[in-house]
Amino acid sequence: MSITETPARPATATLPRTISHWIDGGLREQSGARLSEVFDPASGTVSGRVQLGDADVVAAAVAAAKAALPAWQATPLSKRVPILQAIGRLLREHSDELIRIISAEHGKVASDAAGELARGLEVVDVACAAPLLLKGEFSEQVAGGVDTFSLRQPLGVCVGITPFNFPAMVPLWMFPIALAAGNTFVLKPSERDPSVSLLLAELVTRAGVPDGVFNVVQGDKVAVDALLEHPDVAAVSFVGSTPVARQVYERATASGKRVQALGGAKNHMVVMPDADLAQAADALTSAAYGSAGQRCMAISAAIAVGPVAEPLVQALRERLRGLAVGPASDEQSEMGPLISGQARDRVLGYVEGGVRDGAVLVEDGRAVAVEGHESGYFVGPTLFDHVGPQMDIYRDEIFGPVLVVVRVDTLDEALALIAESEYGNGAAIFTRSGAAARRFQTKAAAGMVGINVPIPVPVSSFSFGGWKRSLFGDHHLYGAEGFRFYTRAKVVTSRWPSDTDGGVNLSFPVAP
Ligand code: NAD
Repeated sequence: MSITETPARPATATLPRTISHWIDGGLREQSGARLSEVFDPASGTVSGRVQLGDADVVAAAVAAAKAALPAWQATPLSKRVPILQAIGRLLREHSDELIRIISAEHGKVASDAAGELARGLEVVDVACAAPLLLKGEFSEQVAGGVDTFSLRQPLGVCVGITPFNFPAMVPLWMFPIALAAGNTFVLKPSERDPSVSLLLAELVTRAGVPDGVFNVVQGDKVAVDALLEHPDVAAVSFVGSTPVARQVYERATASGKRVQALGGAKNHMVVMPDADLAQAADALTSAAYGSAGQRCMAISAAIAVGPVAEPLVQALRERLRGLAVGPASDEQSEMGPLISGQARDRVLGYVEGGVRDGAVLVEDGRAVAVEGHESGYFVGPTLFDHVGPQMDIYRDEIFGPVLVVVRVDTLDEALALIAESEYGNGAAIFTRSGAAARRFQTKAAAGMVGINVPIPVPVSSFSFGGWKRSLFGDHHLYGAEGFRFYTRAKVVTSRWPSDTDGGVNLSFPVAP
């Protein structure tokens, strides 16, 4: 098999039929590559075929990233920052095209795709603050004639392995900061919606990022395994499901790499009896059913405390009946399809399981019909009440438009449920009580907490990361934490002796 430059670059305005790699500044195809079909989830038709990279493609991408490293590391911040600003400008200029490609392959509606792009662009803006965030410390005269200073240096070739549900935002959580810190990058996007990665690569290159600094390898487990084992890869950022996150973390750390591996979630929203009911129901509906529930920060479990349960379920029911389910191509649609037929069948299986386990099915989305899109992967908004903490629909990440309501008597019971969940990405409370909110922010066993905010994805000047099986590793993504992840510390102790200083002394050095 050989890897060659693609003769004609496919127009980015239309989806390419064959979706290939981006290595060393251009599209690259591998002859005889394995292919995977990419679907339009709203119609169930095949829109493209993505090449699945093997160890040769990975080797070519890592070699390009390694070769580009010395010059990029040596590029002064004063030159790197304008390039990052140009990336932000070009992404904004091409936002319509990016949104169209996201919607076409993921299925999410345009406003949702626009939101994902905006949240990704925030990270580009923070990456432009690299001169501030990479600044070291200096202490004068820590000992006689001795000064000490610290600095942070890039790691080398960094890898990002990303999920289908945010094909633009999650890569943007990673590579702008990695590049700002002087690393080079290989992105391995999801094989289910790979096209947006190529437009990102094209725009990054047009912004002035030198060839080889940013590369894209399409693929599945084969490409991931080759990346995890490659000796020239210094660090791996992974976002995806918990079982894969765990495997990636274990394999990559075993081969000596720095790793942050973000996994799945089951995010709880606690509704207190004193909450504004209408606001809480609006927030729950938006957070549970936006993007058809395919968000790592989606609320999938509502914990109703005391007497709020009955009116809350009624208020949710009213809102669900008004939700417009349909393809992204219809401007009226509020909720699109699931990513694949397999994902739809998995969600339907959970709904059947919930019924079997005795939960009360308040709204059943199984039979949703979208006219003209009968073969699309749609599931309507689904709501379960009287769900028990032992049921699979409560414990597992369903990753679809299914919200479960668990009824408890006290805030402490709600906090105990959150503590017992194997996941700990986000948790939210809706209340008018400052005391309850403060108790919640202190006690909730999750990495990101919302107070009257259902999806508390931190702004990019802070960092994103969960607890428990939602994050393997020590570093959150983006913000100052991102710069720490993509750099290693060095501390320099310096002394400029005069000609008369000297003398041998074998004892351990202490500050004179
Ligand atoms: P996934 O785990 O199936 O895939 C993620 C990435 O890993 C993809 O690039 C995929 O090609 C690769 N991959 C899949 N199976 C692999 C294997 N066996 N070995 C090596 N690599 C493999 O996840 P997904 O379905 O694409 O995304 C949805 C999941 O991601 C959900 O669980 C969601 O909660 C999670 N997610 C988490 C966050 C977060 O910040 N914690 C953000 C977004 C999505």
